[in-house]
Amino acid sequence: MDSPITSIKGIGEKTAALFHRVGVDTVGELLSYYPRNYDIYEEPVTFANLKKEQIQAVTGFVRKVPAVSKTRRYAVTTVVLEEFGEYLHLTWFNMPFLKNIISPGSTYIFRGRVQKKKGRLVMEQPEYFTPEAYREKLDTMQPIYGLTAGLSNKTVSKAVRQALDERDLNPEYLPEEIRMDQELAEYNFALRTIHFPVKWEDLLLARRRLVFDEFFLFILSLRQMKEAAEVQKNECPMTTVRETEALLKSLPYELTGAQKKVWEELKADLAGERAMSRLIQGDVGSGKTVVALLALVCAVGNGYQGALMAPTEVLARQHGQSIQEMLEAAGLPIHTVVLTGSMSAKEKRLAYEQIESGQAGIAVGTHALIQSQVHFKRLGLVVTDEQHRFGVRQRETLAAKGGVPHVLVMSATPIPRTLAIILYGDLDISVLDELPGGRLPIKNCVVDESCRATAYRFMEKEIAAGRQVYVICAMVEDNPELELENVVDYTEKLKGAMDASIAIEYLHGKMKASEKNSIMERFAAGEIQVLVSTTVVEVGVNVPNATVMMVENAERFGLAQLHQLRGRVGRGKHQSYCIFVSGNDNPDTKKRLEILNKSNDGFYIASEDLKLRGPGDLFGIRQSGLLEFKIGDVFTDAGILKAASEEAAKLMKQDPVLSKEEHKELQKKLAAYRMAGSGNMSL
Ligand code: ADP
Ligand code: MG
Repeated sequence: MDSPITSIKGIGEKTAALFHRVGVDTVGELLSYYPRNYDIYEEPVTFANLKKEQIQAVTGFVRKVPAVSKTRRYAVTTVVLEEFGEYLHLTWFNMPFLKNIISPGSTYIFRGRVQKKKGRLVMEQPEYFTPEAYREKLDTMQPIYGLTAGLSNKTVSKAVRQALDERDLNPEYLPEEIRMDQELAEYNFALRTIHFPVKWEDLLLARRRLVFDEFFLFILSLRQMKEAAEVQKNECPMTTVRETEALLKSLPYELTGAQKKVWEELKADLAGERAMSRLIQGDVGSGKTVVALLALVCAVGNGYQGALMAPTEVLARQHGQSIQEMLEAAGLPIHTVVLTGSMSAKEKRLAYEQIESGQAGIAVGTHALIQSQVHFKRLGLVVTDEQHRFGVRQRETLAAKGGVPHVLVMSATPIPRTLAIILYGDLDISVLDELPGGRLPIKNCVVDESCRATAYRFMEKEIAAGRQVYVICAMVEDNPELELENVVDYTEKLKGAMDASIAIEYLHGKMKASEKNSIMERFAAGEIQVLVSTTVVEVGVNVPNATVMMVENAERFGLAQLHQLRGRVGRGKHQSYCIFVSGNDNPDTKKRLEILNKSNDGFYIASEDLKLRGPGDLFGIRQSGLLEFKIGDVFTDAGILKAASEEAAKLMKQDPVLSKEEHKELQKKLAAYRMAGSGNMSL
């Protein structure tokens, strides 16, 4: 399982590099690169029965040689089919060779997503089969994998099949008793079936087993950590210091009741018998940062150092800057350093030195903070923001950097309390359940593309009043197969559509870190008025002067993600607005977006989202984007999660360190799981 995927027949360095981009380097990782969905090849339908937005097959008699026309960017190959007076247009991009393959006078089965464009029924990039070839595929389930440019579904599926065929079977590591009690399928069967199911029932069995495993291993490693945490004495006791009072006095607002309560809890933890291990849950905009800063300042006032980790460079920089400003405003001479991956070697070296010498009281950064070159003089507190983006191991590594620091985790992930107790088993939980006062609730609307012009006029008005605007697009660059708005072209279009005096710039994840930082800084400083961006601004970014969030192709995003995006506005005293532009008029999309339209409450949204999708919708789930399990979903698989939690508790009582002979395989599996930094989520 640990061998590189190049050990699989037919995978060379080039393909391996593509796999690397989707996080697959070893055979084991390939086998747990589960399909995102399955394609079922169904009977062809008549044109009259074609449904929009669905993948369907039709039987078509081709009369003429496919026509090839060239646009500026692509060659478009077209075939027009006719059936009882109904027409279906088939189009392919950059596949001109098809005109030599699809021969007139023959019948084919074409299969693809059907859309209506300019009044025509269109199928783009359809697959094509001879009727005989299609009959063989009929009713089979084909895995659909997450892909990246250059990596085709066929390549992945072939590699997985090869790997399954070549490898030795894995030993069963779940204790017999648990497998029997929970009626779980055998591991090797589950692994093969999840990739290549033959029957729907088998697929459900396979999935159940793998979901159980995922939760079970996660909870076991958590419990073992808790075990370790419980003996951890408070080695960095802290008392009340005047620095935090100075900070509180200098704030331009008063803490909310919830913030005060949580701050009291933190103080009690820091002064207590045991090292702090606390999670602060609070919806976007509830003011988590200032509470974290109070704790960091308390650490410094007590002679320790504090570290704040953020999941993205943009967020880390922003935290660094706003912390510096707040400290200055409070007249506190606490030196703050920022450490991120994109800094030059020289800058990094300087930061390392200041951290090591203790000159830096607070260190803010990305995972660069946990690299081996970083040595703290006296680390007393580690805060991680939006922690569900970090892996278990990263937290351990950071915590290991200086004795036993206190650990504070902040998350806006709206999970119900019962689940939180299972998932964050080793953490105490504080809730910020109150938004700062004086905020006007965000006004929402869901519109279609025809309302763009109106939206732009509205944005211009807001900009004229001194405000700023975000526009979110689904993609970075143009992709002919998907009609999604992309930031680069969109920015050009927008510059044409809006007043020329307005500064419009784009931001996306593929830009160099230094470019991203400079764009973000200019936006924060008000030099850029419209920021066209991918979801890189999703997490934590705070520019209170921004009042409009417009999301293009809102149907492409999960509700939780949209809620996070919306959280970028409504952070100051001005009325804010969120415009969701839906790229299709699918009724399900409408219903989902309606939930956001009606509510600004993250917990409510998550639960409604769940209800709407229903527990039957097993495979659409990963888009919920809440917690990053590979296959399990804490909402819809809540039953399995509970079972896994109970079995883990039972096992830990029987054999806490898994030393018994019958637990040897499990012990090994768990070690491998933790090595891989799995449980790449929560805590
Ligand atoms: P989040 O919980 O999403 O991380 P932030 O900590 O970024 O939220 O806070 C959002 C905004 O609210 C910031 O501009 C911050 O200055 C402001 N803020 C925080 N607490 C209060 C408060 N008690 N009253 C008014 N504004 C506040
Ligand atoms: Mg935040």
